Amino acid sequence: MTDTIFGKIISGEIPSEFLYEDDHCVAINDIHPQAPVHVLVIPKKAIPRLVDAGADDRDLLGHLLLAAGTVAQQLGVADAFRLIINNGSGAGQSVFHLHLHIIAGRQFTEGHMAG
Ligand code: AMP
Repeated sequence: MTDTIFGKIISGEIPSEFLYEDDHCVAINDIHPQAPVHVLVIPKKAIPRLVDAGADDRDLLGHLLLAAGTVAQQLGVADAFRLIINNGSGAGQSVFHLHLHIIAGRQFTEGHMAG
């Protein structure tokens, strides 16, 4: 699947530096970082939105969480990071290829879901 910018990055059609790669996902720096650390974990399988994942994707979804933890460790932010998935344009999703945002390196407001 190469229909989104992330599909093209994964296929190599658009060159990008992978901070992390395994059989099922890659991690790249967000091009418009919202925090000192803003990394995207992107499955190689192109699932448009989280709600489009099915039971067949159970292992992959678990894998993405574990990969996010690994990437956070690699980046030295394992003690303080947030994981965000925007699902649908109404929630701010702009690239319709599932991805997890790892956000870290700035002060988080305690207990504040969005901040
Ligand atoms: P979302 O709004 O959740 O769909 O997140 C999409 C994210 O992808 C945004 O934070 C963008 O800044 C980021 N983005 C878009 N194009 C690229 C790109 N070519 N390389 C890295 N990040 C990108």
